[in-house]
Amino acid sequence: MRVLVLGSAAGGGFPQWNCACRNCSCLRTGNLSFRPRTQTQALVSPSAGSWFLINASPDLRSQMLSTPLLAPVKPPRHTPIAGVVLTSADVDCVAGLLHLREFQPLHIYATASVRRILLEENRIFGVLGRANPPAVWHDIPFHTWFSFRNAGPAQAHSSTRLQGVALGGAFPDYVSEKLRKSLQPDEAVIGLVLAEGNHQLLYVPSLPSGSGQWKSWTQTSDLCLLDGTFWDDRELISAGVGSKTAREMGHVPLSGAGGLLQELEALKSARRVLIHVNNTNPILDENSSEHRQVLRAGWEIAYDGMEFEL
Ligand SMILES: [Zn+2]
Repeated sequence: MRVLVLGSAAGGGFPQWNCACRNCSCLRTGNLSFRPRTQTQALVSPSAGSWFLINASPDLRSQMLSTPLLAPVKPPRHTPIAGVVLTSADVDCVAGLLHLREFQPLHIYATASVRRILLEENRIFGVLGRANPPAVWHDIPFHTWFSFRNAGPAQAHSSTRLQGVALGGAFPDYVSEKLRKSLQPDEAVIGLVLAEGNHQLLYVPSLPSGSGQWKSWTQTSDLCLLDGTFWDDRELISAGVGSKTAREMGHVPLSGAGGLLQELEALKSARRVLIHVNNTNPILDENSSEHRQVLRAGWEIAYDGMEFEL
């Protein structure tokens, strides 16, 4: 299984268009301790020539165009992308679906609640149904493996097994109260386990809590791509750009008591990589003590273009 990071920043990207925080300002002025990042987007290839997007970032069009292996090869219209897996209905996870609207048949995997948010209440996503055949939506179950349908008329299943992991967390603010009442809370934010043979990836770009059932999957995974959004719980408040703590926004911070670094201190078996890094996070400064602290603890920090082979 190949895994590509097409984007590694949290919502807004790095730099964020309207942000003059220290990090964004340093990057704009050419400080070489910082590298730009697009909004988080992962790509997995469970079998040769067939690619699945994990989420659909607002930067998806430019991310696809800058990835030669995603170029169409069969005229008149074609894509090696067979489908998309969604981990939540957050704008950063779903806005890119609109880039995929060019009459392209796709498989879309999401929890039933996320599917209902997009199709029942946000009819713009109905444009995906104009393809012939239209996009096929598949509900992600919990506690059971499922597999990807490959592209093409035969739609053979890939050999990669997937499982959704409930993480707690909340539905996005834009969901109406009426619909929210009929949704399953544990379907709001999920992580993904992808297994091929005896290799396993845990993908959790948004992690509401440092404790919980999801932790057991870190023990059996070769690679964990985990939420690196915020360093400090009060990071946005300290930077003067927000009023909520990291935890209130559904992201366990990296530092402090109960932070991700402490929660996974004992984990040595898996390669641990932080993804979905917010532009205010001091680990983006490669000369910062926080950056060095993360590396010393055995973590890596994802960058656009990072690749893994499992
Ligand atoms: Zn910023």
